Amino acid sequence: MRKYIVLLGPPGAGKGTQAKVISEKMNLPHISSGDIFRENIKNQTELGKLARGYMDKGELVPDDVTIAMIKDRLTRPDCSAGALLDGFPRTPAQAEALSDMLKSLDGRVIAVPYISVPEADLIERLAGRWTCRASGHVFHQKFNPPQKAGQCDFDGSELYQRDDDKAETVTRRIRVYMEQTTPLVEFYQAAGLLREVDGRNPIEAVTASMLAILAENKTI
Ligand code: ADP
Ligand code: ADP
Repeated sequence: MRKYIVLLGPPGAGKGTQAKVISEKMNLPHISSGDIFRENIKNQTELGKLARGYMDKGELVPDDVTIAMIKDRLTRPDCSAGALLDGFPRTPAQAEALSDMLKSLDGRVIAVPYISVPEADLIERLAGRWTCRASGHVFHQKFNPPQKAGQCDFDGSELYQRDDDKAETVTRRIRVYMEQTTPLVEFYQAAGLLREVDGRNPIEAVTASMLAILAENKTI
């Protein structure tokens, strides 16, 4: 049976940061819907052109497009043992589509860590976030600075500030999250899978809490 972990949390909670570590520990590929969209924008694909309009405004890309993209990604060979999902599902329709996909893939969501962080911290985190061009590694100018300014510690590629990390778009993204994604917290809670993690702590402490949760679930 394939195993899937769904990471939940508002924009800036630390999903991508934690996913890089957990994916290695669990030997599951890190599938970030945002990273796949940004990759398509970089390569100027049709999907990228379509997604960009929504992303720039801080809105969600339509469900049908997002679901088709993830379906394609989850059926690739590197996902044969499952995956760590970061940023998908983000709406109730996406969560239902994931359940259907997993039925046909003989897979199961085994845990849903939910990283909670107050809004004021999210704004500060996103305003200071620097992202690597090559593979989406993230840094923070104050909380997690790179060794060399403007350069990724892991692959040496250039660091940039995402267009949608501007203050006005961030506020919109947090509102969209509250409206469209918080219902999933209840959905996974009802399924007995949700585990809340206090995301205000430093990065290493959050990692330790996440690993403890996954160990308790006997997922590691
Ligand atoms: P998400 O994927 O949930 O949007 P990221 O992992 O990209 O969040 O983190 C957002 C920003 O906050 C990044 O700049 C990251 O370095 C920083 N960050 C992540 N976790 C923490 C933490 N526990 N404390 C302080 N800053 C953090
Ligand atoms: P963050 O890590 O800060 O939460 P993401 O990289 O996950 O941001 O997402 C950036 C943007 O990509 C979103 O604002 C949205 O426009 C689009 N996006 C990412 N994942 C999804 C999804 N599952 N459904 C719809 N849109 C998405």
